[in-house]
Amino acid sequence: MELIQINKKIQKFKGKMISALIIIFIIGPSSLFSQVNLLNPRFEFTPGIRYNQLITSPKDYLGYELGTEYTIYADVLNYFRNLGEQSERVSIHPYGKTHEGRVLEYLIITGDKNRKRLKEIQKNNLRLADPRNINANIAKKIIKENPGIYWLSYNVHGNEASSTEAVMQVAYRLAAGQDRETQAILDNSVVILFPCLNPDGRDRYVYWYKSAQNYVTNTDQFDYEHDEPWPGGRTNHYWFDLNRDWVWMVHPESKGRIKAYQEWLPQIHVDYHEMGFNRNYFTMPGTTPRNLMLPEPYEALSDTFGLANIAAFDKHKVMYYTREGFDFFYPGYGSSYPSVMGSIGMLVEQGGHSRGGRAVKTDDGYFLTLRQRIFDHYETSFATLSAAVRNRQTLNQYFHDTFQQKTNTGKSAAYILPDNSSNHLYDVLNMLRIHGIEVHRAKANFTVNKAFNYEDGEADRGLFKKGDFLIYTDQPRHLFINTVFQREMSIEDSIMYDMSTWSAPLAYNLDAYWSEIKPRVKSELVKENMVHNAGVGRDRDAYAYVIDWKQRNAPKALAHLWAKKYKVRSARKEFNNGSRTYPRGTLVVLMGRNTDKTESVRNDMDEVAEKAGVMIEAFATGRMQDGIDFGSSNMVPLKNPKVGLMVDTPFNSYTAGQLWYLLDKETELGISKLRMSRLKSLNLNKYDVLLFPGVRGTVDSSLVNKLKTWVLNGGTLIATEGSAQFLTKKSGMNKVKVVEAPKPKMEGIPPSAYTRYEDRSDSLGLKRIPGTAFYGIIDNSHPLAFGVPDRLYTLKQSVSALMPNPSLQTVGYYHKDPMKLKVSGYASVENRKLLAGKTFAAVQPMGSGKIVYLVDNTQYRMFWVGPSRMVQNAVMLLPNM
Ligand SMILES: [Zn+2]
Repeated sequence: MELIQINKKIQKFKGKMISALIIIFIIGPSSLFSQVNLLNPRFEFTPGIRYNQLITSPKDYLGYELGTEYTIYADVLNYFRNLGEQSERVSIHPYGKTHEGRVLEYLIITGDKNRKRLKEIQKNNLRLADPRNINANIAKKIIKENPGIYWLSYNVHGNEASSTEAVMQVAYRLAAGQDRETQAILDNSVVILFPCLNPDGRDRYVYWYKSAQNYVTNTDQFDYEHDEPWPGGRTNHYWFDLNRDWVWMVHPESKGRIKAYQEWLPQIHVDYHEMGFNRNYFTMPGTTPRNLMLPEPYEALSDTFGLANIAAFDKHKVMYYTREGFDFFYPGYGSSYPSVMGSIGMLVEQGGHSRGGRAVKTDDGYFLTLRQRIFDHYETSFATLSAAVRNRQTLNQYFHDTFQQKTNTGKSAAYILPDNSSNHLYDVLNMLRIHGIEVHRAKANFTVNKAFNYEDGEADRGLFKKGDFLIYTDQPRHLFINTVFQREMSIEDSIMYDMSTWSAPLAYNLDAYWSEIKPRVKSELVKENMVHNAGVGRDRDAYAYVIDWKQRNAPKALAHLWAKKYKVRSARKEFNNGSRTYPRGTLVVLMGRNTDKTESVRNDMDEVAEKAGVMIEAFATGRMQDGIDFGSSNMVPLKNPKVGLMVDTPFNSYTAGQLWYLLDKETELGISKLRMSRLKSLNLNKYDVLLFPGVRGTVDSSLVNKLKTWVLNGGTLIATEGSAQFLTKKSGMNKVKVVEAPKPKMEGIPPSAYTRYEDRSDSLGLKRIPGTAFYGIIDNSHPLAFGVPDRLYTLKQSVSALMPNPSLQTVGYYHKDPMKLKVSGYASVENRKLLAGKTFAAVQPMGSGKIVYLVDNTQYRMFWVGPSRMVQNAVMLLPNM
């Protein structure tokens, strides 16, 4: 703002004043404080348009020009609500609340005629998405006549903040613009604008930026205002990337959005992002790998939009690139989920990001302003909408075709999921239903002659039970089903931006099968969400209450019991009461040790059962038919642990956030998040358990001795991912060794020394393991794995592992056969040989304490959750065992 005023003054007082001001600029560090015009007239929004004067512009409403300040989320919402009141074209729709309680809203903008028959337009659109119930003539008519549904999503990454500023100008023009282009959009489409997909992250960035911004515009990328602190505003409250959550919907932001998405099912969807400020605008198309199941016209159609954006940029001399980056393979992005739902899912990326501030000097000396970043997104928003309108019928036709069986290229006729409520199956089924997937349940036992299993991909005769679940692929959303369920996706290229497998049965560690022929069994549609049985068994004068540890929500029940100050034990060995066997880990509340609870126990157990979602059984005796009795010393008293989760640099905020979410939100166990810089002075004796997330860089080695002393005195140190590799012999913690790749033989020059320059990054990529499912073998007689099946699909994202040795208690190791080791995704043969038989989950006892090693991520994005029970065990059971 200030420099703009100075610029004006320069014009006013040409002469002496100019030389005085110039001197100020020259003697200062001029390159950092140069005369940056935050409002360069190059970036005026479509000059010459007439606007309805009764409708307030962002500038008039906010009191500043877009690009001169960042706008807090509440003001963005208020602007849109005002727009909704002023314009007949605009309506506002709430769709949920964030973790931090911010209201999520989207806008629908369309012309008067469409507005009057919006319900009918919506219904017609959904009819195209279910070809089973529509005849060809009606479909043709709808394709020809129905307006397109075009959805633009802004600011999913909170610190890529220009797009939420841009959408205010986009909405204003759509609401008030009197020009022909705007009118054509309003007449031919229903525009859905999601102004901010991640308000918690955006406000984290914006409030921080405002607190850090200088009075004199500063374009130095290293200044504090350009240097956002850990964890940054990219992620949501729990430090999750919401642009990876479109399929799994772990978070309320995603769940609300997908519900709205399914009500509308647009023909195009664009996700607005930002990247490093030295990079030029990215627009479609991207690079490989692609989802090869997408219908053939997808490529050309997405290119149409890229070319439309480029035409706008050529006119304004804005720089851009295409094809050199960004794959659309992983279906959890905002740019790829829509594509498996009949839409053209697209991505745009603007240079800027949190280092962009309001203006930043790029490495080639250009001043990139926030105003330009807003302008660029504004330009592509209109170019894209207009291109969609020009191709409306083609897009409607493509949309309709995508849901037909002629575009189903998958080999499976059905995916079969045996009913098992003790794992994450119900989470998966409920997730599918929100995506509009029809889940069926067998009405009788049935046989499948060739049932392929997920463990090794081999087919065998399969016997299934009444009540088992079936997902048929002859339903409209076959593309989504096959993309999320196929054991292995075809990959035409092994270097990827994200993970190489996400197959849901592997991620959730389910027993699962597929059949290429539709099973012959009567089945019924599942019409309600699956919920875990909850309740309390007979409890007249109970001797003890028992919670089977295999239950999905048993750890949460334990946290609730602790919160109510119950003394709880856990069975180190199995027992059988005559009617069934209870697994290791099972929780037992002995009334003889909870005599203060006699009055409240019935209410308490009801409440715990209901709130946690578990079955609690009441036992009249402590004598078991087989296995241990309740008074056994193998019925181990559990202490409610004081837990510290290390956060801040040098930790990876994603893996820290996942541990935080798992314990705080999913398990409802109170934990402390401890800043790493505090560790040196912290009295560790206050804590029973410390969790170290994945590390970026290294842990300060002077802390190793302190940690060692604390462990020897009884602490439980849980080291995950990079921390697990570090807190070994490497740091002098103990004698545990990590697996090292064999060094190339020194004789002669290795052939890789002559790798061509242009191939070097490719050959590095081939050595990586980019998120691949490995077959893990689990010793679930160990408390670390209580309640975990003996086979576990673990997500491998590195080439690290531990060397097994007799003193290290190996709880999980990779399949010893390198050829059976990889279940899905990419890993080179050398890497498979290196890792076969090596340890990924282990416990090393040290003095009175222990170190728990979890080399692989145990709850990646909270959808690869098969291994997550090991963390709950490590925190809740292991300190006592
Ligand atoms: Zn982004």
